[in-house]
Amino acid sequence: DTYLNPNYSFDNFIEGDCNRLARSAGFAVAQRPGVTSFNPLMIYGDVGLGKTHIVQAIGNYINNHFPEKVVLYVSSEKFTNQFINALKNNTLSSFTDFYMKVDVLVIDDVQFLSGKEKTQDTFFHIFNHLHQLGKQIIMTSDRPPRELDGLQDRLLSRFKWGLTADLQAPDLETRIAIIQKKLQHEGVFIDNDVIEYVAYSVSTNVRELEGVIISLMAQASLTRKEIDVELAKNTLRNIVIEQSREISIDTIMETVADYFKISVADLKSKSRKKEIVYPRQVAVYFAKEYTDLPLKSIGVHFGGRDHSTIIHSVQSITELIETDRSVEETVHKLKSYFR
Ligand code: ADP
Ligand code: MG
Repeated sequence: DTYLNPNYSFDNFIEGDCNRLARSAGFAVAQRPGVTSFNPLMIYGDVGLGKTHIVQAIGNYINNHFPEKVVLYVSSEKFTNQFINALKNNTLSSFTDFYMKVDVLVIDDVQFLSGKEKTQDTFFHIFNHLHQLGKQIIMTSDRPPRELDGLQDRLLSRFKWGLTADLQAPDLETRIAIIQKKLQHEGVFIDNDVIEYVAYSVSTNVRELEGVIISLMAQASLTRKEIDVELAKNTLRNIVIEQSREISIDTIMETVADYFKISVADLKSKSRKKEIVYPRQVAVYFAKEYTDLPLKSIGVHFGGRDHSTIIHSVQSITELIETDRSVEETVHKLKSYFR
């Protein structure tokens, strides 16, 4: 993995709030490598959120638009192994020469350099050399620089010379768009309700989302069945996914109903009784707080209420939390049930 994989591009990277800064900084660097103040560019985020995709896209873009520039992509593990071999074989100077000749150096997952002092020393010299010549350096890490324990301070301080941008877990809209793009790429058609079902159910990272899509397509072709929500449910059941802390709207409704000693049906009912209205507003408040559901869809779960009613409920509970001690306590207690 010293080389670029042409499958990663900006075109097939879906933009969302979760990745906007990293993507646009990456694109700016791709258009003007070594010229922007984003040098080095450091992109960090949890596994499976698209770090490798973005930095590979930058490399590919530069390759295509600036054929005279030498772009090198390397994982930090590979870099470390090469360094160790160079030490063993007494070829350290050709190792460093090789890296010092590039125009763009992409080094992935720098957290792996942690504790490897000699590798870091050499990387430090390569970094300085390239930076002085105005060459572009791009890095990724699974955590922000300040949390990179085991990396030398002199390296960390240089990482801060440029721009650091993070990647967050994709929001629902972005997940739906990613699934659609993936299916389009595979030339597969799947109903929107299945896409939404999968997007709601898998909220951790893009790699897992892609894994589910791939199993779904495999299942469908093995069983020669159509891909429907039923099949999606079965597929998901067979895949162990580390789910995020998102809480389902059913759990919220059940818990709130239990707490107030009413029924879920009451929450969904048209009743305007005070003993029902208040719990309903509390449940709506939590639905807004703890799920990714759009207001419209929350309204549907609460017996087909429109989205202005939902907004009103959220507002009134938010205000009551501030002004009414007993409401504050109730919300606090319910929160502890959810955690
Ligand atoms: P990381 O390096 O952060 O662990 P990757 O870059 O390997 O994550 O991404 C995991 C998978 O998810 C890859 O197949 C990648 O193409 C895909 N992916 C991640 N983010 C996006 C996105 N915003 N749009 C499209 N595909 C994405
Ligand atoms: Mg990666």
